[in-house]
Amino acid sequence: MSDKNRTFPLPLSSVVDKPQKPVFSPVATPQTATQNAAQNAARSAALGAAHAGGRSGAGAGTGMAGRPGPTASPSRSHTYALERAQAAPAAAPRQNPLVSEAVRRAMVARVAKQGVKDAVVLGALEAVPRHMFMDEALASQAYIDASLPIGHHQTISQPYIVARMIEVMRNGGQLQRVLEIGTGCGYQAAVLSCLAQEVYSIERIKPLHELAKANLRPLRLANLRLHYGDGMLGLPQAAPFDGIILAAAGMEVPRALLEQLAIGGRLVAPVGARAQHLELVTRLGKAEWASQTLEDCHFVPLRPGTV
Ligand code: SAH
Repeated sequence: MSDKNRTFPLPLSSVVDKPQKPVFSPVATPQTATQNAAQNAARSAALGAAHAGGRSGAGAGTGMAGRPGPTASPSRSHTYALERAQAAPAAAPRQNPLVSEAVRRAMVARVAKQGVKDAVVLGALEAVPRHMFMDEALASQAYIDASLPIGHHQTISQPYIVARMIEVMRNGGQLQRVLEIGTGCGYQAAVLSCLAQEVYSIERIKPLHELAKANLRPLRLANLRLHYGDGMLGLPQAAPFDGIILAAAGMEVPRALLEQLAIGGRLVAPVGARAQHLELVTRLGKAEWASQTLEDCHFVPLRPGTV
């Protein structure tokens, strides 16, 4: 990684208080929900009503999906890779060509071309059916490289940035316990669950937390737990984490999250307001953190409290 190191080691206060200016030009295309919404309207008109699958019922649940298995929601008309290994060939439903595995493979190939090299991350991206995390009206666009609206002024992150952040956090190693701040519709949580032993994800907007549960339920990911709460406080009861990812940008990395990072653990977060960059924080010791500034990015804001 050709990233610029800041002074090593940094005291906690310097990591918390002083976001750095980005040093690299953007690799990802910055997207805003508003821009995307406008683009989507145009694309939707062009593509027409392409998404044939119905959504399975939303609603309450345990917040924990089950294990990957062959039991697809009967209301969906697509197959997906997490099920493929175990599904009986005769039971395979018809695929919508606009949300097919071939389209997903093409998305992964694009992400690889943009510079993501970690085969484990690319494999996880290929395994998760992104269209199942989006509204039917947008599902035909699920595999373009853009963030897209999911309601409540929030977005599903761009595939490239999801992959890039996980690649940086993973650093080629095994991930035991990972925390994600900002579940949104649950897409990145599903990708994380393919490559970490245990994944915890927190969302502060109740209807999105419920949406993520509904989206994730058919995937039956037994190692993923969803929490409704303020992610800026982390999840002390499950800490320490050897990886933490923030899917929303604050002016600094919340102190609670730095303290819930295991020694040797890696946290990746967008930092900034209008101009944002990815920051990698590594915990070096009990009171020592190091920080690196990576590429520019654009995320929705990190906000305190719950709604
Ligand atoms: N991880 C998602 C991205 C969701 S967008 C994906 O896979 O596409 C970021 C999400 O962060 C939003 O849903 C927003 O509500 C949430 N968020 C912002 N501040 C938060 C906080 N303090 N705690 C938990 N979630 C937060």
